[in-house]
Amino acid sequence: MIPVRDAQAHILERIAAPVPPEVLPLAAALGRVLAQDVRAEMDVPPTDNSAVDGYAVSASDIPAAGTRALEVTAELAAGAVFEGALRPGQALRIMTGAPMPAGGDTVYPQEVVERRGRQVIVGPLSPGANTRRRGEDVLAGAVVLPAGAVLRPQEIGVAASLGLAQLLVRRRPRVAILSTGDEVAEPGGARKPGQIYDSNRFSLRGLVETAGAVVMDDGIVPDQFDELHSRLLRAAERADIVLTSGGVSVGEYDLVKAVLQQAGGIDFWQVAMQPGRPLAVGGIGRAHFFGLPGNPVASMLTFHLFVRPALWKLAGRRELFGRPFLATAVEPMSKKAGRREFKRGILAWVRDRWEVRTTGPQGSGILTSMTAANCFIVIEEERSDVAAGDAVWVEPFQPL
Ligand code: AMP
Ligand code: MG
Repeated sequence: MIPVRDAQAHILERIAAPVPPEVLPLAAALGRVLAQDVRAEMDVPPTDNSAVDGYAVSASDIPAAGTRALEVTAELAAGAVFEGALRPGQALRIMTGAPMPAGGDTVYPQEVVERRGRQVIVGPLSPGANTRRRGEDVLAGAVVLPAGAVLRPQEIGVAASLGLAQLLVRRRPRVAILSTGDEVAEPGGARKPGQIYDSNRFSLRGLVETAGAVVMDDGIVPDQFDELHSRLLRAAERADIVLTSGGVSVGEYDLVKAVLQQAGGIDFWQVAMQPGRPLAVGGIGRAHFFGLPGNPVASMLTFHLFVRPALWKLAGRRELFGRPFLATAVEPMSKKAGRREFKRGILAWVRDRWEVRTTGPQGSGILTSMTAANCFIVIEEERSDVAAGDAVWVEPFQPL
């Protein structure tokens, strides 16, 4: 038995290099991972400019008390540049975003002044008020977005603010998914007595897609040695990761194990966790291989713990894990010391704190426990039963 943490560390060690990069236009880059640092080649904003619609003046013309009349010399729209310079006693009518004029350093909002013909009457104001400084957002030369960052809407906006039209990002990793087992039938088709419909290929597909990778659906493989052997090798020719579910435990027909033992380079682990003990990890051809347990909850959980971090490392991401936080258990939870247990949890914000309860029966075949849940409750190895009121770790599911 190996602890979850060691299994995760061994897996990440195997992923030496990320997938190659490609250039994408900004409009296609959402959710991708940056393959190189983005360094600013300009200041943003490029000039000092007005933060309001109003009047630009020199701080030396601001009255310390009372009011003063200044002469409005010209009007400046956003996008225009004032060619002259403000002289003492002058103000420039200025719009939000227009560059500050030479000789001007402070802006009166139009709401706080009185306009009288060609004059504007102003009162006391802090020098420099209502302006934005050149480079206050980004300074030329700075690394604004680091390699390995995931491009959210705001990262793409920042790239655009630097004038960039395209970015070097990692291509999406490709993941081949196969279900194994004679008892597994295709949804939409006939189900023979003794068969169940294949749910793993569909929940795993969703997990792969929400993790930002491309799915190659390789269908259901019967428990036949030669068929499994050739299908796995074929999948490995096109995929970065080959993912199977079922067939890794110790049953008579658990052939994934037999096939891969022959292919070589695969480790079979008993991970000290519940649910989801058996796991096969290794390489097949040029692809990484993960053999997940067949039980529907176990296959989703082992994906979350072991495959997603590997997939994210392969995709060049810097952050490979979600962030757990503490919540208050509002019901007792049974727990066996010596292994890490994962309950399906319902997390809610109640009276100024995070509270969590389980979804009910926790069998690893009860897939509806996942639909009722919004998080995993993670109970560490050394703990035993949890009492109501104890703090427990929770890991929210990745939002779709
Ligand atoms: P195995 O590890 O192959 O012995 O499978 C363990 C359990 O998971 C058995 O009850 C299987 O019927 C079930 N199972 C295996 N593959 C799937 C699948 N693709 N969809 C739903 N259940 C499955
Ligand atoms: Mg099986």
